[in-house]
Amino acid sequence: MNDLLVIIAAAGKGKRFDGEIPKQYFRVNGQSVIERSVKPFIESTHVSKVIIAISEDDLEIKNQDFYNSEKVEFIIGGKTRQSSVFKALMHADDSKYEYVMTHDAARPNVIENDILNLLDDIKRADSNCSYLYTPVYDSIKESRTRDKDKFHLVQTPQISKFQDLKIAIKKCIDENINCPDESFAIEYSNLKTSKIRGRRSNIKITEPEDLEILNKFLTRSGIGFDLHKYEAGSGIILGGYKINCNYKIIAHSDGDVLLHSIADSILGASGLGDIGKYFSDKDDKNKGLDSSKIIRFCLRKLNELNLEIYNIDTTIICEEPKINPHRDNILKNLSSILLIPVNKIGLKATTSEKIGIIGKNQAIAVQSLVNLRDKQ
Ligand code: ZN
Repeated sequence: MNDLLVIIAAAGKGKRFDGEIPKQYFRVNGQSVIERSVKPFIESTHVSKVIIAISEDDLEIKNQDFYNSEKVEFIIGGKTRQSSVFKALMHADDSKYEYVMTHDAARPNVIENDILNLLDDIKRADSNCSYLYTPVYDSIKESRTRDKDKFHLVQTPQISKFQDLKIAIKKCIDENINCPDESFAIEYSNLKTSKIRGRRSNIKITEPEDLEILNKFLTRSGIGFDLHKYEAGSGIILGGYKINCNYKIIAHSDGDVLLHSIADSILGASGLGDIGKYFSDKDDKNKGLDSSKIIRFCLRKLNELNLEIYNIDTTIICEEPKINPHRDNILKNLSSILLIPVNKIGLKATTSEKIGIIGKNQAIAVQSLVNLRDKQ
């Protein structure tokens, strides 16, 4: 009786914000919204079956990565959410499940802890249904401002006692009561609900802007820093571009401090350590190394992890040479080494106000930040 059944409501065509495809099939960072919504349940060891209620004319479902998963079953849903959930409950073997979790196809940020917390809460509170909520922070206006503390926002997933939910939803259907979610149906039957605090990041994709927000959640960031000492010379290399000046960079490699800093930010964002781990300055074979090879190595690693660069921002800190006259050339070079367009690269320069080793022209440093995302 500990096997958990999950029902995903995906039959609703929702508001289509791109003419053709229902919002649960929009892809963000290489995965559809519904793939992300279903994944935590497929991966959870507490869940033994996921029933997805789809619409009759659904053409997209067979293209989803979970389509052939052994845990997943599909049924044709009804015209309303409650009729879809009811059909799924009728379809399931009711001798097998004490609890059922219900979720929306367009809520793609569920984590395993949400599932565990709901399971704990329905048992601890001995309720008939437990749901996730978040407080209301913005003020709510009807015709006059209402006290927002009296309200909270309801999310999915929700967990209910299997038999109770079946009876409660049947009652709503029979009485033609529209229930926005399962906790409503349970309360309409005068059964007990309990609630636990959810996460505001558990967003429901409703407006096009929500896809942008989802995108932000899925981005990884990394920072990089590198500093090299100067000695008298005839030029330095920044981003693979040679700038003639009265200094040269002291380094085991070609001393491209800009590429080193960027490489470290990429390795950091992908959790792979730092340059020193792969290109030791004690290793003779790295003597005079062309640093674009380090970047190529990083890009190969990103490829293996199915990640790509979203954008990069860098700040070069030195007194001399002046960077601005060379900015466009450095950017062009960076773009061809990093294989991303120039408008994804930030390149800024500043000085150290003539103080410290940088201010005294004894060194140059670069700070960078990279954002990675799953490959599109
Ligand atoms: Zn370096």
